[in-house]
Amino acid sequence: MTTEMHPTRWGDPAQAGPLPSATRELVELAFGVHDTTVAEGAALPAPGLAESVLADLRAVLGDEHVRTDDESRRLRTRGKSTPDLLRARAGDLTDAPDAVVRPGDHDDVVALLEVAVRHHVAVVPFGGGTSVTGGLVARREGYAGVVSLDLGRLTAVREIDEVSMTAVLEPGLRGPEAEARLAEHRLTLGHYPQSFEFATIGGFAATRSSGQSSAGYGRFDALVVGLTVATPQGTWELGTSPANAAGPDLRQLVLGSEGAFGVITAVRVRVRRLPAERVYEGWQFGSFAAGTEAIRTLAQAGARSGLMPTVLRLSDESETALNLASQSDVGGAAADGGCLMIVGHEGADVADRRAAVTAALEAAGGTPLGEERGAAWEQGRFHAPYLRDSMLDVGVTVETLETATFWSRVPQVYAAVRQALAGTLGERAIVLCHVSHVYETGCSLYFTVAVPGGDDPVEQWRSAKSAATEAMVAAGATITHHHAVGTDHRPWLEREIGPLGVRVLRAVKDELDPTGVLNPGVLVP
Ligand SMILES: Cc1cc2nc3c(=O)[nH]c(=O)nc-3n(C[C@H](O)[C@H](O)[C@H](O)COP(=O)(O)OP(=O)(O)OC[C@H]3O[C@@H](n4cnc5c(N)ncnc54)[C@H](O)[C@@H]3O)c2cc1C
Repeated sequence: MTTEMHPTRWGDPAQAGPLPSATRELVELAFGVHDTTVAEGAALPAPGLAESVLADLRAVLGDEHVRTDDESRRLRTRGKSTPDLLRARAGDLTDAPDAVVRPGDHDDVVALLEVAVRHHVAVVPFGGGTSVTGGLVARREGYAGVVSLDLGRLTAVREIDEVSMTAVLEPGLRGPEAEARLAEHRLTLGHYPQSFEFATIGGFAATRSSGQSSAGYGRFDALVVGLTVATPQGTWELGTSPANAAGPDLRQLVLGSEGAFGVITAVRVRVRRLPAERVYEGWQFGSFAAGTEAIRTLAQAGARSGLMPTVLRLSDESETALNLASQSDVGGAAADGGCLMIVGHEGADVADRRAAVTAALEAAGGTPLGEERGAAWEQGRFHAPYLRDSMLDVGVTVETLETATFWSRVPQVYAAVRQALAGTLGERAIVLCHVSHVYETGCSLYFTVAVPGGDDPVEQWRSAKSAATEAMVAAGATITHHHAVGTDHRPWLEREIGPLGVRVLRAVKDELDPTGVLNPGVLVP
């Protein structure tokens, strides 16, 4: 794994490659393709911070950790949504921070915030840089400059408490590093978002991320027990007991706050024993409706009995067809149309849980496809972002969006979002969907879209995403289940939480960050 992501692509480009010729032919047939060019090494705007500000930042961190070189700034320009990549590929670096600061500990962060307040500099906390909602693009107007506060040096595992089964992790730990360090104690967090390779503990908390094993381990916010936060008003420690009734749970003000209320410098998380066994398998259902019904039954029964799979996902007909076409070499039982469900079990009691879940899925009309399908899913679970780059290389825009709704509304939300996307993007667009996270009361729907990019792919996607978000709001679904608000979803936040909710958020922001230096323009409308 590289330490930095490529500025115009996902992850480590060595792991990607051009589309295999058979896939390219298919893509050409569906969309027509043209090889695109990337403005590598495009010029950045000159760094705009006054020397007096830089001198104060250097006084806190030393010269080495205050960077204004092109490479440091380029690598912290925006996140990794498809519009972010398209802009970077076109050489648009207008959102580059003026400087990158790299604190070494919590006290450094507090001191940096003091400097930022004194000079009225906007501060963008930067974890892995994998935001897909514009969470790393702060408003520049009215500020003396923008500084990216990179948490990459805060990577300690501060404490492991194997009696209470908690660990205190620093925010800059990326998914694989955190898992490796916990594995030394035979522990795991079990948080595997698709961005796992590069996203960080602080970012997971700041965005209320959800991973592919959320059915078994829970979403990231459910794993957080305590938080240490540096704010312009000083240090805030939250979560001193396993549970309490000491008023509202203020941890929830920090979880999902996207750097707008403070900088998370430590997270106490719940940990589990490394699973003794892992089994992933495929199931087939006749239709998305039948599969959704089965998954609902399982989630609701599992909530009562505790017999929930660890991984539970269901692709719709279109996504299944594409999966099967790209996995023609996968052995085991043949899947012929319908909808593919991936069911995973992890733990010490896999056999019992698997037997109970198998009986429930068979009763719901499912056909088992065996472990080969599950293994194929596991093998490719982090690969899709690399494929997105290969598609962008041939002029095809690929992007995703997500929502969640109650079970009773799933059919309407599914239809409304698909219709909004197809209505904006036209009939050449391919819209795929899967149920990605399940709860007793509802689920998350995750859509993937592929469409020929056209003359202005950024604007093309903006209008499609806008139509899809309007459809979500109109259908009573959330504007985001796990990607957070950032700048992209902010225009719709008031429709979700109401004007009073917005006033509450603003009041919290005013209290913690009275001069508004923390990630201005992100989250709070
Ligand atoms: C290809 C791809 C796949 C993805 N898959 C998933 C998925 O499966 N599940 C999922 O939930 N998300 C997913 N995401 C979205 C993204 O990875 C998550 O939002 C992730 O939690 C962000 O973590 P990060 O460390 O990269 O944060 P960043 O992108 O660096 O930051 C995200 C936001 O949090 C703020 N922030 C970061 N660190 C801190 C901190 N220490 N204190 C305060 N604020 C902070 C930033 O200012 C920003 O507003 C995906 C993204 C991509 C590009």
